[in-house]
Amino acid sequence: MRPYLSAVVPVYNEEDNLKPLFARLTKVLDEIGKPYEIVFTNDGSRDRSGHVLRELYAQRPENVRVIDFNGNFGQHMAIMAAFEYVRGDIVVTLDADLQNLPEDIPLLVAKIEEGFDVVGGYRRDRQDTWFRRNASRFINMIRARITRIEMRDQGCMLRAYRRHIVDNIATSGEVSTFIPALAYSFAANPTEVEVSHAPRAAGHSKYHLYNLLRLNFDLMTGFSLVPLQVFTMLGFAVSLLSALLVVYLLLQRIFVGPEVQGVFTLFGIMYFLVGLGIFGLGIIGEYIGRIYLEVRKRPRFVIREVVQARDDD
Ligand code: UDP
Ligand code: MG
Repeated sequence: MRPYLSAVVPVYNEEDNLKPLFARLTKVLDEIGKPYEIVFTNDGSRDRSGHVLRELYAQRPENVRVIDFNGNFGQHMAIMAAFEYVRGDIVVTLDADLQNLPEDIPLLVAKIEEGFDVVGGYRRDRQDTWFRRNASRFINMIRARITRIEMRDQGCMLRAYRRHIVDNIATSGEVSTFIPALAYSFAANPTEVEVSHAPRAAGHSKYHLYNLLRLNFDLMTGFSLVPLQVFTMLGFAVSLLSALLVVYLLLQRIFVGPEVQGVFTLFGIMYFLVGLGIFGLGIIGEYIGRIYLEVRKRPRFVIREVVQARDDD
């Protein structure tokens, strides 16, 4: 039977979380009482996650599908692949580490049934490190300013989508992307609900400073041209100021005489401008990198195997 609801869970080295997650998830979804499927993407886990996922499939083959990646392609590509396979009318995404509470799913589903096409969760009492919480707040603020995406909590992955939004995301062909932001760019009628947040149940976060930075660059450059435009403006302002400085120095030289002091000020200004120039080049590089990834047209992810019951529709 065609599922009404699809839950999508990206999995990367979560061996100890999968069984407790599965127990809670199936309990919640059973209670909703509609046909459902849980689509796990095993994002190249190096622990026993793949094995545990097959066990879960064996327990309830009618409810479970496992997409097994050939390597680690990242959380957003894991969700992307699942979006190509899901069959439900309503699609919910959540993390595998039990930071998102499966018990919140009915809340999101109810909102979709009310007529919203995208329902984003925002976390009450976020259970992450001080650094993560504050870095997130800062990034959310910048994103809100430079993109047209209105989201309270971009990092929250407990979200629900109407079928057509998921289809749009899956066919977008985006390479390194940020699924919630992509969803908002397709949404006609989005809303948000408050959800709970728990500390990670077992294992540790897969995001270190470096991947967090990468992910946020993807978000900024993938959904906005403002970083580039800021540099045009900055270049313009700097040229104008330099021109004024030249005029000033010229007048000083004519009326006061040659100047030898102020060498270090000059160095200071030079280094600042050189730094700015390199930063600008970096930003251009980010966009060129994205263009390069798109034109290269390599597969975004490679699926080794899909474990599922016979697909009869
Ligand atoms: N994840 C993934 N591939 C990755 C990194 C993470 O599928 O390369 C999954 C991970 O297993 C988890 C979710 O994405 O289900 C969120 O990851 P994590 O909890 O490490 O992120 P955090 O909560 O620290 O932001
Ligand atoms: Mg987590």
